[in-house]
Amino acid sequence: MKKEYLIITFLLILGILPALSQNSGCPSQTYILDHPYQVEKITPPKGHKIKNVILMIGDGMSLMHVYSAWTANRGKLWLDNSQYIGLSKTYCSNRLITDSGAGGTALATGYKTNYHSVGVDTNGKPLKSLCTLAKEKGKSSGIAVTCRLWDATPADFCCHNVDRDQEMAIVTDYVDCGIDYVFGGGAAYFENRPDGRDLFKELQNKSYQTPRNWEDVENVKNGKVFAIPYEKDTPIPAERGDLLARASLKGLDLLNQNKKGFFMMIEGSQLDDYGHSNDLDMLMQETMDFDRTIGEVLKWAAKDGETLVVITADHETGGLTLVDGDLNEGKIVCKFSTNEHSGVMVPVYSFGPGSENFSGIYENTDIFWKIKKLLKL
Ligand SMILES: [Zn+2]
Repeated sequence: MKKEYLIITFLLILGILPALSQNSGCPSQTYILDHPYQVEKITPPKGHKIKNVILMIGDGMSLMHVYSAWTANRGKLWLDNSQYIGLSKTYCSNRLITDSGAGGTALATGYKTNYHSVGVDTNGKPLKSLCTLAKEKGKSSGIAVTCRLWDATPADFCCHNVDRDQEMAIVTDYVDCGIDYVFGGGAAYFENRPDGRDLFKELQNKSYQTPRNWEDVENVKNGKVFAIPYEKDTPIPAERGDLLARASLKGLDLLNQNKKGFFMMIEGSQLDDYGHSNDLDMLMQETMDFDRTIGEVLKWAAKDGETLVVITADHETGGLTLVDGDLNEGKIVCKFSTNEHSGVMVPVYSFGPGSENFSGIYENTDIFWKIKKLLKL
């Protein structure tokens, strides 16, 4: 008997197991970054005062996304300038594998909630987000995203609904949010609505400037801004260029006019979309666009000296796995294991004063409580 087992084991090792492993899951995809981008070393500020916090969310971004982008860019990312690293547990109240609604609500409000909920607790009660709490303390707040504003992550910071699919209702909450700077897509649901409301007019009545193209955003010098230059999502990275970085820096400069400081959320929104569609090429383009935005934000924060930057994700999307590659060629070979989100802790990177508070392993909700405490909200 022992001999038979040995033979079977031997055969398995020789042939069957490798064959099985080669055929397991989805086919692999190869991506090569033809033109790597430059990355600089950023010297962190020395002071300890925290006046501002910038929370950056890569929607669906796991260590695999980061390491794949790092490999494709020949072993360098702006993200490598982070000073401390932690791990965040992303499960939500009623499911192990969260969605952006519940995942972002945890980051925005400090409470785990039900799958598909935005900005409400498990009973459907509206929760105050970091944006709202900052306003209550006399600080300014803002968001910049590349997706439509009814998408879950931006909605988590300004809107309240048990069902993220109630998009037409969700966007009306932006009118009463009190936020100082918004940049994103999704103008389609702000006007010509079935209920007859014109949300742009309502925002203007609340002293918002509502620029509808980038030139007009650029020309704003002060005051409250609600900028939606696109009907739905912003264009793909190859077409929009460094739009997210520009929109983020514009927001930072406007919010920074408040002597009491600010809270800002910046999202690389569409990593998630290409994780869902298992499109490695577009996923890497979005991940690297987000990384370059991180570079601009870290440079701004280093110069400011009183700004803490926290960079994380709400969950992983696509079950991305790097199975081969070449650092010198900037080549990656990856597989996806799902069209949905997967269950894994996501990294939390931090830079600037207070960044040491983000090392360790903790719940996604703790990111909110740490920021709240550090900003004295
Ligand atoms: Zn998400």
